Amino acid sequence: MTQPVANDFIRDIVRRDNELGTYGGRVQTRFPPEPNGYLHIGHAKAITVDFGTAEEFGGSCNLRLDDTNPDTEETEFVESIVADIAWLGFRPDRLLHASDYFGQLYDWAEELIARDLAFVDDQDIETISAQRGGFGRPGSDSPYRTRTVEENLDLFRRMRAGEFADGSRVLRAKIDMNHENMALRDPVMYRIRHRHHFRTGDQWCIYPTYDWAHGQSDAIEGVTHSICTLEFDTHRPLYDWYLAHLTLPAEAPRQIEFARLEFTHTITSKRRLAKLVADGVVDGWDDPRMPTLRGLRRRGYPPAAIRAFCSEIGTTRTNSRQSIEALESSVRRHLNTTAQRRMAVLRPLRLVIDNWPIDESGEPVTQYFEVANNPENPADGSRSVAFSGELFIEREDFAEVPPPKFFRLSVGREVRLRGAFLVTATAVDKDAEGEIVTVHASYDPATRGGDAPDGRKVKSTMHWVSARHAVEVTVALYDRLFTAPVPGESTGEALDDLNPQSRTLLDGAKAEAALAATPPGQVVQFERLGYFAHDSDTPLLFHRTVGLRDEWAAIQRRQG
Ligand code: ATP
Ligand code: MG
Repeated sequence: MTQPVANDFIRDIVRRDNELGTYGGRVQTRFPPEPNGYLHIGHAKAITVDFGTAEEFGGSCNLRLDDTNPDTEETEFVESIVADIAWLGFRPDRLLHASDYFGQLYDWAEELIARDLAFVDDQDIETISAQRGGFGRPGSDSPYRTRTVEENLDLFRRMRAGEFADGSRVLRAKIDMNHENMALRDPVMYRIRHRHHFRTGDQWCIYPTYDWAHGQSDAIEGVTHSICTLEFDTHRPLYDWYLAHLTLPAEAPRQIEFARLEFTHTITSKRRLAKLVADGVVDGWDDPRMPTLRGLRRRGYPPAAIRAFCSEIGTTRTNSRQSIEALESSVRRHLNTTAQRRMAVLRPLRLVIDNWPIDESGEPVTQYFEVANNPENPADGSRSVAFSGELFIEREDFAEVPPPKFFRLSVGREVRLRGAFLVTATAVDKDAEGEIVTVHASYDPATRGGDAPDGRKVKSTMHWVSARHAVEVTVALYDRLFTAPVPGESTGEALDDLNPQSRTLLDGAKAEAALAATPPGQVVQFERLGYFAHDSDTPLLFHRTVGLRDEWAAIQRRQG
């Protein structure tokens, strides 16, 4: 799959490196998630940038699991990350793990110690942070900074051998406690953590920090352009410092930062998303309300729509929030061409056609209508839909006393039942509470197909389902997970803005028989209602992917 060649500052940098021959014309990128959760829509942006850039320049992109923190990482997450990248439509050149470099990283740390560029600090992390100073405020040297190389080597080896308790010592780079960039004030390289690691087991009890591991992992793999998000901007000098002070196998990689992708009405932080799962706010990482790739997949988002959106918005160095409606618009555009049409009634109301013919055995006759599966794609063919004297229509398509501008069914009014007949409501039956339980109607046999031979017009066309042929389905309707456009903007806590009505479950919706044959995970359009994805596990459960109205187009029109 080839992405359209975008012009952005990342491509410009790569192009210039190629012209200068910096990496001998080679382009190699990586996508480096920490396996501590599921990928979300923000990661989809990083994936399209990392894989897309490499592909455009004939290079390669690896998946590197940044598994340097044994506290939070699990095989479950590795497997989901691998599967989600494949679902999105990308194939990593190689599957790699930062933990495979623990040995090399350790050797490089000894190299820095030997050159008196790193030291073992016996202070705890709180004391160390307090000594870092602040912006415009100098830090102060650790009292252990002047240890001899021999003492540091001895202590570091004993740290590795497991002689010391968690938190009792760290290894720090010896750079400059007055550096204007806080990231270079003697940053921590190793922490002691007597913890089982899901890949290296109990082999290690010291673990590298992100900064110490990342650039070196890039260098080991031969990465040329290490693309990450803007929050690492201030870490770039440290990234470069480490690489400049080590004996590298090749030209040092270059870190490039771009703005994170964020959306209105949702969050893209694994930690916060994990809390939604842990607190039971959602059913799991793959709840259709989650902005995780798993959630979007279950919700029915086509991977092609996500990829197209990520490349259309471009790549910049300015943080901004995208409208969730813009993504939905892309989803709708893709589904419009691919989703087959079906009829389903979400809140059924019984409609009885009193003049419908009955057969010899006294049963209402069944007629069949041939209906196109997708008018946007004739290759999808057609199906036959049963029609009989007892139907379900949408409860909100009938009004006993029609309000102004209500053109759908009411007593005495004629409407079109889509693709079938014109019908006129004649009376209603109510239950003891006064609730309408049945609408009586008469049909005009001359209007088969939905048009009157005398050319008379009706103002409304409604969807319907034959009661006798209907299958019962459960439909989940979704609203925004967070009511506020920027969750947490007013209180600082996103969870304060949770929408308590983000899901409405409708049991007893009725659908034409063909819906039952929808393959798991497939999206269909319910006519007049929106796009709905068949659940991948529970038969006859449908999730509303998006409605039919393009809110994004409306927003853009309003903004002129
Ligand atoms: P989180 O805070 O959600 O855990 P993260 O940045 O820590 O996100 P990682 O798994 O460490 O997640 O990130 C893998 C890669 O994806 C990194 O290069 C990171 O910069 C990028 N990334 C993460 N979130 C976004 C986002 N919202 N938009 C674009 N890229 C992102
Ligand atoms: Mg992270």
